[in-house]
This record gives sequence, C-alpha cells and structure tokens, in this order.
Amino acid sequence: EIRVRFAPSPTGPLHIGGARSALFNYLWARKNNGTFIVRSEDTDLERSSRESEHNILEALRWLSIQWGEGIEVGGEHGPYRQTDRLPIYREYTEKLIDSGHAYLCYCSEEELEQERKALAAQGETPRYRGKCRDLTAEQRAAFQSEGRKPVVRFRVPEGQAIHIKDQVRGDVVFDSDGIGDYVIVKSDGIPTYNFAVVVDDSTMNVTQVIRGEEHLSNTPRQVLIYQALGLSVPEFAHISLILNTEGGKMSKRDGDTAVIDYRKKGYLPEAIVNFIALLGWAPSGEKEFYTLDELAESFSLDRVSKSPAVFDLQKLNYMNAHYIKQTAPERLAELALPYAQELGILPLGEQSTEQQRWFMGVMKAISEKISYLAEVKDFIHYFHGDVPLEPEGEALEVLKGEQVPGVLALFKGKVQEVEELSEATVKVLLKQMTKELKLGGKLVYMPVRVALTGQMHGPELFDVIPLLGRENVLKRLEVSEK
Ligand code: GLU
Repeated sequence: EIRVRFAPSPTGPLHIGGARSALFNYLWARKNNGTFIVRSEDTDLERSSRESEHNILEALRWLSIQWGEGIEVGGEHGPYRQTDRLPIYREYTEKLIDSGHAYLCYCSEEELEQERKALAAQGETPRYRGKCRDLTAEQRAAFQSEGRKPVVRFRVPEGQAIHIKDQVRGDVVFDSDGIGDYVIVKSDGIPTYNFAVVVDDSTMNVTQVIRGEEHLSNTPRQVLIYQALGLSVPEFAHISLILNTEGGKMSKRDGDTAVIDYRKKGYLPEAIVNFIALLGWAPSGEKEFYTLDELAESFSLDRVSKSPAVFDLQKLNYMNAHYIKQTAPERLAELALPYAQELGILPLGEQSTEQQRWFMGVMKAISEKISYLAEVKDFIHYFHGDVPLEPEGEALEVLKGEQVPGVLALFKGKVQEVEELSEATVKVLLKQMTKELKLGGKLVYMPVRVALTGQMHGPELFDVIPLLGRENVLKRLEVSEK
C-alpha cells in the first residue's frame, strides 16, 4: 500500500509551495488507492500555534485536499501532532543511546560558538566535532552536578556515502563527512525535525516522502537515523522550488504567497488546484484545465520535473478567469457578496430577493471580464447609483458630437415609454434608435454609454441598463445633460 503524508509546521499560513506538496501527495495517494496522512510538526514551540494549524487545515479543506488519516480525522498511527508524541520519541532516543548511535552532549552555547569560530578560522566547515562523544559516567555526573542540561546528538559515521533514492532526482549521494554530530533532542526534551520526522514516517508506515527540494539536504541526516534504528528507508521525491518569472525567489512582489490571500481576493479553489498542479508537474497531453478528479487520474511522479517551477500570476489569473466563466452566477454572487457589502452597496446579512437577483445579474454581466471576484469592486459602479463617473479625455469628446443631443433625447423617451427594461427590450430599443436616426451603431451607442457610465468601455449596455434600472438611468442622463 502507498502511504504518503503532508507534514506542515504550523508556524504561519499555508503557502503556495506547501499547498503544492500537499496536493502532490494527495493526488499520488488517490492515483494508487493509497492513504494520504496529514500530521502537524509543531516541535518549534515558539513559532508554532494551534491557530496556524487550524488555518492550514482550513486552507487544505478549501482546496478539497482531503486526508484519510491524521490530525482531526484520526487513524491507527496517531497521535498526529508531534508535541503529543513525545513518549514515542523518548523510546527511540533510548534505543539510539543504548546502541551507541547517539550520546548526551553537555557543551554550552559559548563552547560551541568557540569551536565554530576556531574551525572557521582554519578554513574548515564549522561543525560539531564530537567533544562529548565518549564521556565517562563520572564526566557526565560532573556536568550534571554543574546543572548543565544535555542535548542528545547523533553520532555521524565517518567516510560514509549516503545514497538517496529520489523519484524526481534519481540517485543522490551525500558524504557523511562534514555533517558533524547533530542534535536530535534539545535540552528541553523536544526532538528536532530531522529526528521526529524519521520516527513519525516510520511508525506511520510512510512509503514515500514527497516534499519540497529545500529538504533534500536534510535527507542524509534522516537516512542515517533510519539506518541506525534498523528501519526501512522510504522512497523520496523532492519537488523543485517555485521561482518567480524572473527566476528569483517568490516574494510578495510577485503576488501573494499564502493560499488564504487568494481566497480573500476571490480566486476559486478549483483554479488554484489546477494551477499549482502544473507547478512542476507536466501532463502528457496538451490539456490545460483539469478537475481534481482528472488530476488524480493523470498524476504521476515521473512527470514531475527537476527544474524549478515558475509562478506566473498572469497564468493563474487566466486560469481563474476561465473557471469564473464556467461558474453559475448564483455561486459567483454568493462568493462575491462580501465585496459588495464592503462597499456598502449591499446590506450585511440577508439580501432581499430583488437584491439577490440584481447582484446575480451583475456577476453574470461581468463574469467574462474579471480574473478574480474582488474585481467586482472595479465594475459595480456601472450597475449601481444615479451618478455616472465623470467622463474624461476621449470620452468627454464623444459627448460633444453634434448628433448627441438627438440621440440622448430619443433614448430618454424610449426608456420612459418601454414597459420593462430587460436585456431583450433594451436590445430592440437600441436597434430602433439606429434605424430612426439613420446613424451608424457607434454614433448611437457610444454617447449612450458615456452618458450612462462616463466611460467608453465596460460591460454590455444591454446588461448595464436593466441592472441600473429606469430611475438611475434617467437620473444619470440628467447629470450628463448638465
Ligand atoms: N515540517 C516540515 C516543513 O513544514 C516538513 C518537511 C517534510 O515533509 O519532511 O517543512
């Protein structure tokens, strides 16, 4: 059975990179009828919080990345939060100490700092050289009585080549020299990441570790611990970094990095999933748009690329726009409601049927024009209120045409006469005007558009006019007559 996991450290929100790791694991589990586990790696007590843990899980759920085992859902290999697993780590620590693979180290921070400096001065890699490796019982007792609190260090074997089987990178070999004996349990009894991750992946029967490339350099340290404990080593798949379009590290300037920021801006979860699936994974065909089910069917680790993935916000916007176009106006209106409420255009709480219908119409009218739902804020003024935007430049020139007074007068009359302002009646009405005035379409529609909206571009007039309503249309015409 394939068993994979996502193991976030709850020290902040879920980032795009983390979401991608979670997604790849989830897809791989589904593809293989395996199990996807989520575990919280909260051993950094200062930076971890339950709030972050909650937010990360919430973001995964929003993306529909579900886990069959792990935190909150439970399972046979729990608990699934590292701080709830301290007795398990203690047991493995004892095994390592008893077998001579680990030892207590009493060196103080200052002593370690001195060692690092001395090594650096000789041009050597700063590392721990095993001063406490072979302390006698008396020496240990002496340190204890000084009140020193020991850490536990792993005894790194010398001159060993450490082979890592990586499904993305092939065989990767590290040299054990230069690693230095590293801490596996801190002086407060809390295990370090490299140790806890091994105990967890092993006791949770994880068969494949799919995670970000930034952890590749940790992997030899983990492999040494598996070997020392006589545990079988899982396969690894280190997925490449995500860079910006200039080839640098992703930063705020290239777009938001937290999943929640995209949710707040009105990106659809299915678009985010589709987009991040393609960050480093390339399907075999030309197809670009995938549902989660289709991804689960097509995903494979051998089409995951070694080279860095590029985060292209324009591509995400393009994908999101595609999904918005396909989404029912009911759902768009529901998701976009907070933006209209934020502007005070719709009331907080329940909407009347009329308000619901109006807003659904607005969303339908702009669904071809926006990349994310918060952009409704840039469009809503077309459909709401009795004052048009002040026309400027070219738009102002449009209103100076000699045919304009006639066009607007005729339009006003027709708006007053027509029984109901609907998309269909407005279409007819505008067409009648071109006929009656014997003018080309543009000479008729453009002044109407500018008079009503102050702008030369925007949503279709036959959408704007009915949603604006007769009263607002007439008032806007009055404003531009002045
Ligand atoms: N807690 C680690 C992180 O968030 C997990 C690394 C791993 O998957 O082993 O980066």
